[in-house]
Amino acid sequence: MNSASHPTSGGNFPARIPSYLQSDNLGPWGIYLQQVDRVAPYLGHLASWIETLKHPKRALIVDVPIHLDNGTIAHFEGYRVQHNTSRGPGKGGVRFHQDVTLSEVMALAAWMSIKNAAVNVPYGGAKGGIRVDPKLLSKGELERMTRRYTSEIGIIIGPTKDIPAPDVNTNEQIMAWMMDTYSMNEGSTATGVVTGKPIDLGGSLGRREATGRGVFTVGVEAAKHIGLDIDTCRVAIQGFGNVGGIAAKLFAQAGSRVVAVQDHAGAIYNGGGLDVPSLLNHVMVHGTVVGFPKAEPIEREAFWDVECDILIPAALDQQLTQANANRIRARMVIEGANGPTTPEADDIFQERNILVVPDVIANAGGVTVSYFEWVQDFSSFFWSEDEINSRLVRIMQDAFSAIWQVAKEHQVTLRTATFIVACKRILHARELRGLYP
Ligand code: NAD
Repeated sequence: MNSASHPTSGGNFPARIPSYLQSDNLGPWGIYLQQVDRVAPYLGHLASWIETLKHPKRALIVDVPIHLDNGTIAHFEGYRVQHNTSRGPGKGGVRFHQDVTLSEVMALAAWMSIKNAAVNVPYGGAKGGIRVDPKLLSKGELERMTRRYTSEIGIIIGPTKDIPAPDVNTNEQIMAWMMDTYSMNEGSTATGVVTGKPIDLGGSLGRREATGRGVFTVGVEAAKHIGLDIDTCRVAIQGFGNVGGIAAKLFAQAGSRVVAVQDHAGAIYNGGGLDVPSLLNHVMVHGTVVGFPKAEPIEREAFWDVECDILIPAALDQQLTQANANRIRARMVIEGANGPTTPEADDIFQERNILVVPDVIANAGGVTVSYFEWVQDFSSFFWSEDEINSRLVRIMQDAFSAIWQVAKEHQVTLRTATFIVACKRILHARELRGLYP
C-alpha cells in the first residue's frame, strides 16, 4: 500500500476535529486566567509584568502518524506547551488521554510554572499531551506513537530546554522510549531529557511515590492547622493510580481510614476503612477498584456524598464544581490532581469553611523529586532513598509553611497565597532578565 492510499485514520481512531478548532468556552486555561487575576492586587510593582503569565511562551501542535497493527495509519494530535521559562527550563508531564485539548495543556503548563516556583525548584512550566485513549493501543502501537511524538517535539525539548515527565496514562516505560528516541536523534545518551525514568536508566529512587508522598506531607501539615488528627481521620479519594494509590497507602499507614475510592470504572465504600494494600493488589490485577470484595459498591455520583474528613481528588481536572461543591462533607480537600476544583467550587468551599490545599503545592512532590532525578543525572551520582525522601519532606513542609504564613498575612485562600508566592518569584526573575531585544 503506498502512502497516498492510506486512510487518514484507522482502526478505532476516526478522524476528529482538532481540539483547537472546537469552541472552548471557559476551559482550564480560562480557569487559570481567573486565578491569575485574583492574585494581581497582591503583586505590588511586579503586577506590571503580569501579562507575561497570561501568554504561553511557546505552544507546539504536532501531527503524530503511526502504522497501526492492522496495516492502516492513524493520526493523533500532540502538544507541547512551554508556558514560562523565566526561572529555568520548562518542566512538566506528558498526558495521553482522549479528552486532552490545547486549552488543557496550556493550563497544565501554566500550573507547572506556578508549582515549580512555589517549591522553588529552578524550572519554568511546560506540559505535553496526545489526544488518544492509550488503552485502545497495542504495546507496539503505543511505543511507535510515543517515539514519533518525541521526535516531533524534539525541536523544543532537551535537558537544558524542557524536560517532560509522566502524567495521566504515561509511565516509566514511556519515559524510557522518550529518552531513547531523543538520544537516538541527538547521537548520544541524554538521560536528563525526561524524568520519571526506570531506575536502571538514570531514574531516581522515590520518584514513583513522590507525588503521593507530597500529598500526604502537606495533608499532615494542613491537618495540624485545623486540629484534625491524621491517625483517626476518614479519607475519600477519587483516582487510585500513581497519586491516589500512594497517598491512600501513606494515609492508611498513618492510621487514617480510607473509606471511599472512585476511579474511572466506579466507586466503592467501607466505613470501617478499606484494606489499602489489598486494594492496590486488586487494582494491579483488575485495572479498577470495582469488584473489590471487602467493600460495598456505590454509585459514582454517591461518592461525592460520602462523609469524610479529607477528600483527595487525584484523577482529572474540573471534578469539584458548582454542581457538587455543596454536597461535599469533608473538612479539607487536598488536590492531588491538577485543576480538580473550579473557581466557583473554590468560592463555595471558602464560604463553607472547607480548607482547600491547592494542586500547585499539594502535588508538587512529583516535580520536586523529578528535580532531584535531573540533578543526579547531570552529576551521574545517585542518592539513597532515605536522602531523597527526607529532602522531599523538608522542601514540602517549608513551602507549605511559607504559603500558610502568606495566607494568614493577606487573609486569602491557600490557592491565592501559593499564586502570590509563585507569581512574585516568576515575575521577579522576568524583571531581572528583562525583555529581549
Ligand atoms: P494515573 O493514570 O496513575 O491514575 C489516574 C487515576 O484516575 C486512575 O485510578 C483512573 O482510574 C482514575 N480516573 C480516570 N478517569 C477518571 C474519571 N473520569 N473519574 C474518576 N476517576 C478517574 O494518573 P496519576 O499520575 O495518578 O495522575 C492523577 C492526577 O494527578 C492527574 O491530574 C495528574 O495531572 C496529577 N499529577 C500527577 C503527578 C505524577 O507524578 N504522577 C504529579 C502531579 C500531578
